Amino acid sequence: MKIAILSRGPRLYSTVRLVEAGRERGHDISVINTLRCYNNVTSHRPSVHYRGEALHGIDAIIPRIGASVTFYGTAVVRQFEMMGTFPVNESVAISRSRDKLRATQLLARKGIGLPVTGFAYSPSDVDDLIKMVGGPPLVVKLLEGTQGVGVVLAETYQAAESVIQAFMGLEKEIMVQEYIREAKGADIRCFVVGGRMIAAMKRQGAEGDFRSNLHRGGTAQVVKVTPEERSTAVRAAKVMGLNVAGVDMLRSNHGPVVMEVNSSPGLRGIETATGKDIAGRIIEFIERNARVGRTGTRGKG
Ligand code: ADP
Ligand code: MG
Repeated sequence: MKIAILSRGPRLYSTVRLVEAGRERGHDISVINTLRCYNNVTSHRPSVHYRGEALHGIDAIIPRIGASVTFYGTAVVRQFEMMGTFPVNESVAISRSRDKLRATQLLARKGIGLPVTGFAYSPSDVDDLIKMVGGPPLVVKLLEGTQGVGVVLAETYQAAESVIQAFMGLEKEIMVQEYIREAKGADIRCFVVGGRMIAAMKRQGAEGDFRSNLHRGGTAQVVKVTPEERSTAVRAAKVMGLNVAGVDMLRSNHGPVVMEVNSSPGLRGIETATGKDIAGRIIEFIERNARVGRTGTRGKG
């Protein structure tokens, strides 16, 4: 098959592993810089151009869209969908997962366990907002943050109030969440491919940090998940419409609560912690499912 990885980082671990795994299995794999794709939007023969040529005959794309380029990146994925190219994750699913609030609302609709979460616009409503989500300590999150940046723990009422008001003053979109203290700075990352959880790791934040992101100095180890955690991960990926997803959850006193669902989950941490060939499983998924014209949305919103 002819498979293109949409990525700005040909030397990133995840990209390198996907290229390797694809070539091992006999596919024609290329890495395409998402931001260098330029596109002809037309109803008759929509096309994606790259370095002076129209791209032809690609069976599947693996979008690895960085958070800072979600808007342009998902537009390029949508363009491929219009051409009938099979995307491992569809543009609309990527957009859903990138907005933490939209994702949380979608998960809530389907009864997935979540930390108590609220949002407000006006500084006048901050006092009630804090009470509504159960009071401090609270976690305040930028809706489009990633890798732990923009996630703040406010231990006291005053801290919560001033952090929320500061973000509001900067016109940053935020949500406010119950702090799951019993998770003790650790979370569970479940890797889901094609409706099955294929690997899981426990990430522990660096000393003194409540955030367990590996980019923040967290460490990962393999973990055995409960059946409830496994089914929560699979259901969360399904609700988002993601074929490949990293579902992050906390072990709370009332069962697993999902924090976010990542549409371009990194491979380094999970492959290193578990010793599994995750890249190979993604390529296998493409082999089983990629057919021209077999995208759910064909580029619709
Ligand atoms: P990011 O997209 O930046 O990774 P997350 O929502 O995943 O944002 O939060 C980053 C980390 O902060 C999580 O991996 C988790 O360790 C910690 N965290 C986030 N929300 C909560 C919460 N409600 N209670 C306790 N810890 C949390
Ligand atoms: Mg996260």
